Amino acid sequence: MCYYYKTLKGLTYVSPFFIAFTELFKNTIDMSDASNTTATTEVGKLKLAIQKSGRLHDDSMKLLKECGIDISNGVNKLKAEASNFPLEVYFLRDDDIPQYVEDGVADIGFVGENVVLEKKKKVDLVEKLGFSKCRLSIAVSKGVNYENASFLEGKKIATSYPVIVQDFLDREGIKADIHEISGSVEIAPGIGLAEAICDLVSSGSTLFMNGLKEVETILQSQAILIKNKHLNIEQQQVLDKMLFRIQSVKKAKNNKYVLLNAPNENLEKIISILPGMKSPTVLPLAEKGWSSVHSVLKESEFWDIIEQLKALGAQGILVVPIEKMII
Ligand code: ATP
Ligand code: ZN
Repeated sequence: MCYYYKTLKGLTYVSPFFIAFTELFKNTIDMSDASNTTATTEVGKLKLAIQKSGRLHDDSMKLLKECGIDISNGVNKLKAEASNFPLEVYFLRDDDIPQYVEDGVADIGFVGENVVLEKKKKVDLVEKLGFSKCRLSIAVSKGVNYENASFLEGKKIATSYPVIVQDFLDREGIKADIHEISGSVEIAPGIGLAEAICDLVSSGSTLFMNGLKEVETILQSQAILIKNKHLNIEQQQVLDKMLFRIQSVKKAKNNKYVLLNAPNENLEKIISILPGMKSPTVLPLAEKGWSSVHSVLKESEFWDIIEQLKALGAQGILVVPIEKMII
């Protein structure tokens, strides 16, 4: 199976380090000023486009909530206003979001990377949001002997992503007939419409239920934050503020707070495998010969490190989720 990770062609990536740097030197990063609407309305308002209903909607609303942005009214309407942040939210079909952001009808949007690449609109990628992770894959009937992409030569491929599929075929030097359909792509081989399909996959169960197997992944996708290319300075400041919150929420999700009891004879070794934000906190326990150690662990390294800690005699290990991380 060939894995191809497409870069965001035509999108400019705005470095989070630049944003973090500018945030550090502003007095406005204090989360408590979320409630200070008079201060924030002075610097302009942002219009955010999110999906009205569908797979992106709930996580988009959840992210706003985790960022302390309160959208309490109007989810069933076309737009709603945040009560404590200079933000107006537009509820739209996801396919239309890149166009609206390019045109400036919306200033920013939460949308799948797959949709942005398919629509080829001139917008900037600001941040990957870490939800709605899925892949765009080619699949064929289970019984087919697929060895590589040359199988697709001269075949019919049904998809809702003709632009991304054509890019893939061009790169592979393959000529195939792309048949664009808007939904239920997975039934196409079964009804004789196409020999292959290209569709979004997360668990693969839909493909399996339709007698198909995944043979090529042509794109890894997740929800992203995009912005219009011509934001004014005030809008950019509001966006920086929102981005700072999004990054704090993302960091917190990728980390866990760990508390454990360590035998003093292994304390140095235990500390050396626990990085912490600066270094771990160590406090003596009432029981002689033992210390309490507190630290922050990356989710990805979590199980490996816990195993090592246990082997070094750590006991009473507590793992606590972190809500926000401001470093
Ligand atoms: P709309 O009515 O807004 O046009 P839709 O039916 O086109 O919605 P959804 O099925 O809600 O779209 O999917 C929205 C986005 O969610 C996709 O573009 C993709 O980024 C992501 N997505 C799609 N399928 C999956 C999946 N199986 N798992 C995770 N994320 C997915
Ligand atoms: Zn859609």
